[in-house]
Amino acid sequence: MENCLFCKIIEGTIPSACVYQDEKTYAFRDINPAAPTHVLVVPKTHCSGLSAVDELDDATLAACLRTVKKVAEQEGLTGGFRMVSNCGAHACQSVPHLHFHVLGGEQLSEKMV
Ligand code: AMP
Repeated sequence: MENCLFCKIIEGTIPSACVYQDEKTYAFRDINPAAPTHVLVVPKTHCSGLSAVDELDDATLAACLRTVKKVAEQEGLTGGFRMVSNCGAHACQSVPHLHFHVLGGEQLSEKMV
């Protein structure tokens, strides 16, 4: 989609530190990491967020979760990790392209928020 930051990252017009990609998904390092490992997993097909997920086919949605798992393995997050997807204004979603934060590499807070 035109003017979507993550679509531009996926197509390569904006640089990113890619850690994994396949036919349906793209994973890259968050520019402002909140943990020692902080990777964003996105579908290559544009979707604004979880509230618009009906626009995505099931295979792409499932592929995102499989990529989260692959990234966690690849990054050596054997102690565990957290996946977060902010959706909408109350959750402070700042980029309107569905993304899953994969956070780990240290003991994370017990608190969800
Ligand atoms: P959210 O606030 O949940 O929408 O998450 C958006 C995330 O995108 C934030 O954690 C940002 O640090 C990250 N981000 C923004 N621009 C870039 C970029 N150019 N490359 C990598 N991560 C980015």
